[in-house]
Amino acid sequence: MTNTPDPTSILQDLIRCPSVTPLEAGALDYMEALMGPAGFTATRMPFSEDGTADVDNLFLRIGTGSPHFCFAGHVDVVPPGADELWSYPPFSAEIHDGTIYGRGACDMKGSVAAFCAAAIGFAADHGGRLPGSVSMLITGDEEGIAINGTVKMLAELKRRNEVPDVCLVGEPTCPGALGDTLKIGRRGSIHFEVTWTGVQGHSAYPHKALNPITPLARLIDRVSSHELDRGNAHFGPTTLAVTNFDTGNPANNVIPASANARFNIRYNTEHTGQSLKDWVARECETVKQAFGGTFVIAIVEGADAFMTEPGSFVDCMAKAVAAETGIEPKLDTGGGTSDARFIKNYCPVVEFGPNNATI
Ligand code: ZN
Repeated sequence: MTNTPDPTSILQDLIRCPSVTPLEAGALDYMEALMGPAGFTATRMPFSEDGTADVDNLFLRIGTGSPHFCFAGHVDVVPPGADELWSYPPFSAEIHDGTIYGRGACDMKGSVAAFCAAAIGFAADHGGRLPGSVSMLITGDEEGIAINGTVKMLAELKRRNEVPDVCLVGEPTCPGALGDTLKIGRRGSIHFEVTWTGVQGHSAYPHKALNPITPLARLIDRVSSHELDRGNAHFGPTTLAVTNFDTGNPANNVIPASANARFNIRYNTEHTGQSLKDWVARECETVKQAFGGTFVIAIVEGADAFMTEPGSFVDCMAKAVAAETGIEPKLDTGGGTSDARFIKNYCPVVEFGPNNATI
């Protein structure tokens, strides 16, 4: 592509906007001004909700036809922390020895800048008349609570009949060399907190008490030693990590009234959040039948597991990565969550972005 601008200067401009969530700090204005002359129609999508900060978002699109390829990214960044811990000021975008320094350089203004440059070049090479259409869904609410960003943008696109056919999320995915990893899915995550209540008593008279530690310990033993699955073609086995076990009991001679344990399950596509909730409830019930007491389960649901089946879209993306980087990317499902967890409800989605060593 001969008309592609330098992505490095675009990245410097973006880093210099101190867009700590939920502020866009000029980053979206900049992108609108950059992409408009290249033929992209811009729609600002500010959203608000009670109890959350207002967030501004930006949707850019060139062309109206199909296939509709969307790049999804965010311009918000996490807080930079103490300035003196930085080699160079976090919003200065200084370049030293071929490395650009700045908050969000990798996650993910680097991807956003690269896609802007590529899209401008691609549009110019086609004289502004594309065979399909290219869009950019840019949120300012990815690093925050993710309520006024991608979720609401997708609903708005559906309302406007502009849901993309396929989507690339530009999160940093490559642990080694640029090109080594294309993410086609993610594990799910769900947290459980189980509080078991018995009857408090003196340890000299245990028959008059009901020690809640006994059933809760039995429960933790059962769930943590159970093999939930052995993984499948694209995911490793589901894992369960016990993260806390506590009675809050300072005394040596008191059987506590209640005990509390927490565990986190990272699961593959053999399970859903609901199937795991049902399993934990059944385990608690079984233990209750044997040991007595009562239990309460509190749940914090993270993202559900998902996968984009290998096929023409994944092949196309893998070939593009190989053509540009010379590396055949591994199709991976590891790592944490991203906005792909919302996009997968609308269209096939993959993730590819820079080396993630410094995020
Ligand atoms: Zn990110």
